Amino acid sequence: MIIKISNLSVGIHSLGFEIPVDELQLGEPFVDILTLDCEIDKSQHQIVIKCNLTISTQLNCDRCGVDYNKDFISDFTLLYLYEKSDIDEDKLNVNYLSANDDKIDLTKDVLEFARLSIPMKKLCSEDCKGLCVKCGTDLNENKCNCSDDETNPVWGPLLKLKDKLN
Ligand SMILES: [Zn+2]
Ligand SMILES: [Zn+2]
Repeated sequence: MIIKISNLSVGIHSLGFEIPVDELQLGEPFVDILTLDCEIDKSQHQIVIKCNLTISTQLNCDRCGVDYNKDFISDFTLLYLYEKSDIDEDKLNVNYLSANDDKIDLTKDVLEFARLSIPMKKLCSEDCKGLCVKCGTDLNENKCNCSDDETNPVWGPLLKLKDKLN
């Protein structure tokens, strides 16, 4: 993901990349193609690149264990400066350019954002019912015969106490 900047005129430019994840050696859980749309705003002292990144993944649900496919879209801005400045570098993705640089390679930053867009908690759907803890049935697909209202034995004594209080 390289942008040639030597001949780039001052102003706004659009550029898109579509790269098979195999070529990027991204590995699991990434699949298919990484798509990146860039809006490049070049001015005299800086280049601002607004990025819209789409990645496809195959993930494994933490609750029911099923494999599912999901796309993630993330927006971020990369800033390239020709001179040092006192902006807050922690908040922005700031890189520095020298007058001799004729291109910008986005690959490293983009791959980092790709990895960051994978959630810690992976669920095939928000309301995934998961597996029955007793028999292992996938409760999204089937109901099992384990009784729903069987009281957890830990609560037994407390419920008796509650009966007495009532
Ligand atoms: Zn699930
Ligand atoms: Zn069950």
